Amino acid sequence: MIRFSNAPSGRHFLQIPGPTNVPDRILRAIDNPTIDHRGPEFGALGRKVLADLKTVFRTSQDVVIYPASGTGAWEAALVNTLSPGDRVLMFETGHFAALWRELALRLGLEVEFVAGDWRHGVDPALVEARLAEDRRHAIRAVMVVHNETSTGVTSRVAAIRQAIDAAGHPALLMVDTISSLASIDYRHDEWGVDVTVAGSQKGLMLPPGLSFNAISKKALAGQKTARLPRSYWDWAPMLAANKTGYFPYTPATNLLYGLHEALEMLLEEGLDNVFARHDRHAEATRSAVRAWGLEILCADPAEYSSALTAIVMPAGHDADAFRKVTLEACDLSLGAGLSKLAGKVFRIGHLGSFNDLMLMGTLSGVEMGLSLAGVPHEKGGAQAAMDCLVASRRLAGDAADTRSVA
Ligand SMILES: *Cc1c(COP(=O)(O)O)cnc(C)c1O
Repeated sequence: MIRFSNAPSGRHFLQIPGPTNVPDRILRAIDNPTIDHRGPEFGALGRKVLADLKTVFRTSQDVVIYPASGTGAWEAALVNTLSPGDRVLMFETGHFAALWRELALRLGLEVEFVAGDWRHGVDPALVEARLAEDRRHAIRAVMVVHNETSTGVTSRVAAIRQAIDAAGHPALLMVDTISSLASIDYRHDEWGVDVTVAGSQKGLMLPPGLSFNAISKKALAGQKTARLPRSYWDWAPMLAANKTGYFPYTPATNLLYGLHEALEMLLEEGLDNVFARHDRHAEATRSAVRAWGLEILCADPAEYSSALTAIVMPAGHDADAFRKVTLEACDLSLGAGLSKLAGKVFRIGHLGSFNDLMLMGTLSGVEMGLSLAGVPHEKGGAQAAMDCLVASRRLAGDAADTRSVA
C-alpha cells in the first residue's frame, strides 16, 4: 500500500486569521544584530517607525508601541483613560468582544454588554439609542471591535462615531483594530476614535509580540483624571521617551526592524491598494463558498470582512475534524471556530502578505479537504474564485486602458 508521507515539503499554508505569513523581506530585516537601544542609531529607527505608523493609522496624533500581544494594548487603552467603577458600553459581536469585556471586568469597570448573535456587527442605531437614554453621561466609553476575527464580521466605525455625536454624548470611542489595521480601510482621526488598539501579527505581517495604541488629544487629556492603576502601560513616560525615538524600557528591537520593513512594504504598495487587494481576495473567497453551497457566517453583506471569511459547517459535520484533514493532507492551517462556534465554523484568513495564487492554493486545499472529510458540497468553488479573480483583473485592466487613452 502506498503511504503518503506527512513530512512537510514545500511551504506550509498558514491561512488562519493571524498570525499571518511573514514575508521574507521582514524575516531578513529581523535577522540583524540587536543594537544599543540607547545609542544614536536606535533613535532614528524609533522616530521613523513612529512616524510611519501614524500614516497607517491615518492619524496626526500620538501612537505608542508596546512589546506585548494585542491583549496588552487592550489593557493599556483602559487603564490610561478610566477609573474604577466607570461604566462602559460594549457589544457582543463575538469571541474577541467577549474577551475584551472580561478584561474590563477584571480591572473593576462596569460593563454594559449588549447581546448579539455573532453574525452581525455593532448596530449604530443601538449605540445612539443607548447613549441618548444616558442623560447623566454615566457611560465613559464605547468599546467596539472593528473586525470580529471570530466571525468575519466588520462593524461600521464611522457610523458608530456619527451615532455618538447624534446622541450628543461625551463618551470616549475605543476601537480594537487588531485584525483590521493595514487590511481594511480605517481612519483614526477622520472617524474621531479616541483610542485605537492594534497588534503586529495580522495585517502588519509581523510575528506576534508588538501592539499599539493610537491616542486622541481627548483621550490623552483624560489621563490626568483616570484612576485605574497603571505602570507598565502608562502612556506618559512612553510618550516622553518617544519624542526622541526612545522607549522607557527595553524595546523589542528586532521586531522594530521588522516593523520598519513592514511599513516600507505597505507604503510602497499604497494603503488604498492594500485595502483593494484584501477586498478582492475576500470577494473571490465568498464566490468559492457560494459555489460549494456552504453558508457564510456573516449575515449582512454590508459587514463582510475583507480580512477573513468564517464558513458554517453543514449540520452533523465537525469543523475541527475537517481542519485536521486539511492540515494532514495539504499542510494547510485554517482557523478554528472559537468558544460557542467551536466545531461549527472554520475560518479562512486572507489577510496580510497574500496574493492570487496563495488564495488559489488555500481554496484548492479547502475543496480537497471537503472531499476527503466527506463534507457534502458542490464542486467548482476554486473555479468560481478563479473566475472572480480574472474578471476583477479584466475590469482593473479596462479602467487602466481608459485612463491611458484619456
Ligand atoms: C487576535 C485578536 C486579539 C488578541 O490579540 P493577542 O495578540 O492574541 O493578544 C484581540 N482582538 C482581535 C480582534 C483579534 O483579532
